[in-house]
Amino acid sequence: MPRPRKWRKVCCLPESNRFGPLNAPVQPDRVIMTVEEYETIRLIDLEGLTQEECAQQMNIARTTVQGIYAEARKKLAESIVNGKMLWIEGGNYKLCEGGLPSCRGRGCRREVPGEDLCRWQPNRMRKLKEAFDEDSTSS
Ligand SMILES: [Zn+2]
Repeated sequence: MPRPRKWRKVCCLPESNRFGPLNAPVQPDRVIMTVEEYETIRLIDLEGLTQEECAQQMNIARTTVQGIYAEARKKLAESIVNGKMLWIEGGNYKLCEGGLPSCRGRGCRREVPGEDLCRWQPNRMRKLKEAFDEDSTSS
């Protein structure tokens, strides 16, 4: 029986969500990474969480994290090896509101004083969040 689809909790939106080669012609091909795929890269590769901890923080099963993380790594490789643009958008996630025990001290940018909005201005953050949410509902 398939599990009901859970929202993946994301604790920080990317500051920039368009990447591409700077010293090569821009290819028309692009790789689209979802926000939750980005979050696994951030938590596991940057913040040093284990997959287990990452799963806990994102409120999903470890096997789900494995799948999302593998897909994220594949897309990163596809982008840097083949010089494709990498866009981060869409997905199936909810932005963390902060204040959750699972988040404290575990790479949640919403829990760090002064960094609670991932260094975005609140208005900009809200706009970005709306844009992301539109992407995720339309895809
Ligand atoms: Zn959080």
